[in-house]
Amino acid sequence: MRLAVIGLGHVGLPTAGVLAHLGHEVSAVDVDEEKIELLQRGIFPFFEPELEDLVRQGVEAGRLTFSQWIEDAVSGVGVAFLCVGTPPNGAGQANLSIIEAAAAQLAESVDGPLVVVEKSTVPAGTAERIAQTLQRHRPDGVFAVVSNPEFLREGSAVKDSIRPSRILVGSDDPEALATMRELYAPLVEAGVPWIETDLRTAELAKHASNAFLALKVSYANALARICEAAGADVSAVAQIMGADSRIGRGHLSAGIGFGGYCLPKDVQAFEHLSRQLGYDFPLLREIARINDEAMDAGFRKIQEALWNLTGKRVAVLGLAFKPNTDDTRFSPALELSRRLIEAGADVVGYDPEAGTNAKAEVSQLEVVGDVYSALEGAHCAVLATDWDEFRTLDLVRVRELMRFPILVDGRNLFDSQEVRAAGITYIPTGRPPVRP
Ligand code: NAD
Repeated sequence: MRLAVIGLGHVGLPTAGVLAHLGHEVSAVDVDEEKIELLQRGIFPFFEPELEDLVRQGVEAGRLTFSQWIEDAVSGVGVAFLCVGTPPNGAGQANLSIIEAAAAQLAESVDGPLVVVEKSTVPAGTAERIAQTLQRHRPDGVFAVVSNPEFLREGSAVKDSIRPSRILVGSDDPEALATMRELYAPLVEAGVPWIETDLRTAELAKHASNAFLALKVSYANALARICEAAGADVSAVAQIMGADSRIGRGHLSAGIGFGGYCLPKDVQAFEHLSRQLGYDFPLLREIARINDEAMDAGFRKIQEALWNLTGKRVAVLGLAFKPNTDDTRFSPALELSRRLIEAGADVVGYDPEAGTNAKAEVSQLEVVGDVYSALEGAHCAVLATDWDEFRTLDLVRVRELMRFPILVDGRNLFDSQEVRAAGITYIPTGRPPVRP
């Protein structure tokens, strides 16, 4: 099938790569001229494991091309995937002007009937608005709109796209649904669950899923405060809870809060939508409040350990919002860094992939190229992102390098007794602190 993918970010690029991998002919478009230039030269615009190989294979097979011009990309194409951003506006609503602009451009550029697939995360009801936009910009056009929300996770985007937990497709148009079935047939034949529903159910299911994941994280973070007060261990509590299949193990790790481009904005957007629909959903506001409080608690631990922050050197280990990505959008590690800097600390950060993005966001942050340089002379270290690289730190060397050997663990990555044995004061999250 000939397809177009509009918007080549963390969702669009894996989508384009996987669709080419499934044998389709994919024209991939982005308005970002620099990004397209890089991709055309075989240079990757961001770090995502396995994605570079997948994209290269598609390009070498002649099934994946890149363009800055939507009119070139959609000529002769039967299906177009909208993968543009839906960032939060100031009031917490999803800003849908980018998706509206992309739909308008699409309508004005297309030269035949088109199935428009909404992959971006949007509030229920957006597909009808997209259909209206398409028709307004191309009154003689033949369009069908499909919602196909994306569930991939940054850091495992390729695995998640080749073997998704489910493919969710919503539409009120039987022919468009048949097209989607054909397009995804190789994945469904390989055993991926296929769910077909109406437009609004598909759109709403995505927000409902992300809000529920955020709820689990906030539940674990609230438990961490209770465990700290009770002298219990939140990691053990979460493990015991997770052994119950009705609860599940995922998203129960306590820490300094969730961040990234999806959960914070999607919880807010869903809360906004529910209010708009006449249902007050305070639980969603509580998720965000507990998340802020998890960050406050992490900050307080550092402050408590160091007394005055002015002039103290704090090493932040991990700057991306999660491991295996260089994405720092709404990263808790950067939020914590900003707060420490505001309080007078000198903050030095290290991340295996996200250093450049972090520096671009927080100019006062000193970014270094390896973890031990970050620790050298530090009065305190904070583990903010649980990259695997940190699991194998030489803890004795860490103690020797640091001015005060204090490790605040915002992700509960370490074994308390091992850190203590190395002579380091260890302050985890929701677990008792230990001193050498
Ligand atoms: P992103 O910001 O990384 O990428 C969006 C891309 O769209 C950018 O490269 C931008 O230049 C491009 N773009 C904007 N307007 C365009 C236009 N008119 N034509 C062509 N390109 C245009 O965003 P993302 O992280 O890929 O997220 C995209 C959507 O997917 C969002 O709605 C997000 O909520 C959702 N989502 C994201 C993830 C994730 O992990 N990042 C997971 C699931 C769903």
